[in-house]
Amino acid sequence: MTHLECDVLIIGAGGAGMYAAIAAARAGAGHVLIADKSLVGRGGATIMAQMTVAAALGEECPDDWTAHLEDTLAAGRGLCEESLAALLCREAPARIREMAEWRVGWACRADGRIAQVTAPGHSRPRCCYVDFLNTGPAVAATLRRRIGHVAAIRRLGNLNVTDIVTADGERGGEVAGAVALDSATGEAVTIAAKAVIIATGGLTRIFRRNSASANMGGDGYALALGAGADLVDMEFVQFFPIGHLAPRLVGMDPIMWDPFRYKLGGRLLDGSGREFLLDYGSDETGGYTTPRDLATYAIEREVAAGRGSPHGGVYLSFTHVPRSALEAAFGPVIARLAKNGIDLGHMPVEVAPIAHYHMGGIAVDERMRSRVPGLFAAGEAAGGANGANRLSGNAIPEALVFGERAGRSAAAYAATRAHGWERGPAAPALERIRRLAEGSRGELSAAVLLDELRDLMGTEVGAFRNAAGLARAVRRLADLRAGLSAAAIAPGLQFNPTVADWLELRASLVAAEAVAHAALLREESRGAHQREDFPETDPGWARSQYVRMTGEGALTVGGAR
Ligand SMILES: Cc1cc2nc3c(=O)[nH]c(=O)nc-3n(C[C@H](O)[C@H](O)[C@H](O)COP(=O)(O)OP(=O)(O)OC[C@H]3O[C@@H](n4cnc5c(N)ncnc54)[C@H](O)[C@@H]3O)c2cc1C
Repeated sequence: MTHLECDVLIIGAGGAGMYAAIAAARAGAGHVLIADKSLVGRGGATIMAQMTVAAALGEECPDDWTAHLEDTLAAGRGLCEESLAALLCREAPARIREMAEWRVGWACRADGRIAQVTAPGHSRPRCCYVDFLNTGPAVAATLRRRIGHVAAIRRLGNLNVTDIVTADGERGGEVAGAVALDSATGEAVTIAAKAVIIATGGLTRIFRRNSASANMGGDGYALALGAGADLVDMEFVQFFPIGHLAPRLVGMDPIMWDPFRYKLGGRLLDGSGREFLLDYGSDETGGYTTPRDLATYAIEREVAAGRGSPHGGVYLSFTHVPRSALEAAFGPVIARLAKNGIDLGHMPVEVAPIAHYHMGGIAVDERMRSRVPGLFAAGEAAGGANGANRLSGNAIPEALVFGERAGRSAAAYAATRAHGWERGPAAPALERIRRLAEGSRGELSAAVLLDELRDLMGTEVGAFRNAAGLARAVRRLADLRAGLSAAAIAPGLQFNPTVADWLELRASLVAAEAVAHAALLREESRGAHQREDFPETDPGWARSQYVRMTGEGALTVGGAR
């Protein structure tokens, strides 16, 4: 077994984690350890984000962070934690300009100013980007390069963090470090840390249809609850109506059809090729005007009525758009699509609503502190800034701004204390890893159970919810959680996918239960949470719900922190 020591441990090396590492070192932390269960800077959502990043730079027209805040609060439908939303909008320009100094390559106008475009919900052109489809990869590559040059930052990939350890072993006690499994060596690793930042991204992979990468199963939420932190707004999962469904698309953003719709219109057709939006009160003769919730509703209803496309979505067609217009608007993308066997001039694609982003997360204050002393959170793992719905382009700045803030705060916290690590409190987590190594002969594998979990969440906790379905989901999730130890696991820890699946299942079940339980209790529709049985927004519900783990591991949902 390996034991490591650091001042600040950062779990997750996406945009938030890498920025946090830079900020922690800049603030004087001498030993910063950034750990990722994937490769550092190459897992998670940041590298997949190919569109735009919102910041009130005012390069295209006068803009101000307060206008950005106004739009963010409007999108959040009364639930944004205003201090966090203000922090995000106020500091986004500084982070974007700092990234420019680090040569991220923001697209520029002819006069050399950073180009900014409009996106849904923004009152003015505010979103910058790095040429077609390269925003996230460029942000990730820039931060990767940056952390590579800082001596105080140690990077470790293949390190799957399974538990946060507190000094007294109690939930809510001061943080002492973490336990992880090194999937490459098969070794358990203990990490003593004076401060820990959870930057593990979101949970959209717990839904059958999602835009997620492999490591977005909600680990951070389970880690935080286990340590005693609260989660906030867990019921708010953003579904993107026209996520790519078929044919198979490699190396491209599954939400890329939105800009296509904005620029070129495009027609949504049912399985027989009929335009159906008019049936739902949306007339698109003037361009792409259907709001996301109505489009999601219309698509889901068409599919439920048996009028969907072969893979269970609907068609999106640009065959009526002249090839010259396609080329002029999206030349390089059209070429990349052709490599995927998709000729937009001749064929429609299939699209369907997909889980895309999670507004909820670990409850933090403006210094990114959770209620557990020494435990911080940043990026999509943290909740509250976006309330009931997120503005497009707000997630990458959230990762950068909150990452920077968390790194700085954690370094300051670490400077005030000595290590509190003792082996005793880590023993249960180490014992779990030891048992995993022995394997288990259960009937069903964790992969099969993960499949069931994703189907259940897609069917009962998807874009449109009702009490009966949510209650079914909560009951079944509790059963699955109770039966977790009976799942089949092959012996050994080194590169063992059944162990990785089991660990993901363990975390995903907790995250899923938090979402389903909070969704069941919120008897209204607001933003991304739509209840068929409570279709109206209820002013009495203009408040957040908080999820906490009790001593036995059960989850409670309540109105106050
Ligand atoms: C397809 C797609 C397109 C998007 N497009 C945009 C866009 O155009 N604009 C925008 O603003 N936002 C966009 N978003 C959202 C945005 O990309 C994310 O919200 C943001 O990048 C999250 O950054 P993060 O650092 O918090 O998490 P991530 O980038 O997801 O990083 C989390 C990291 O944590 C690691 N990790 C997880 N669990 C563990 C564990 N147990 N132990 C160790 N490591 C762990 C993961 O491997 C991963 O590397 C998009 C998202 C997706 C999926």
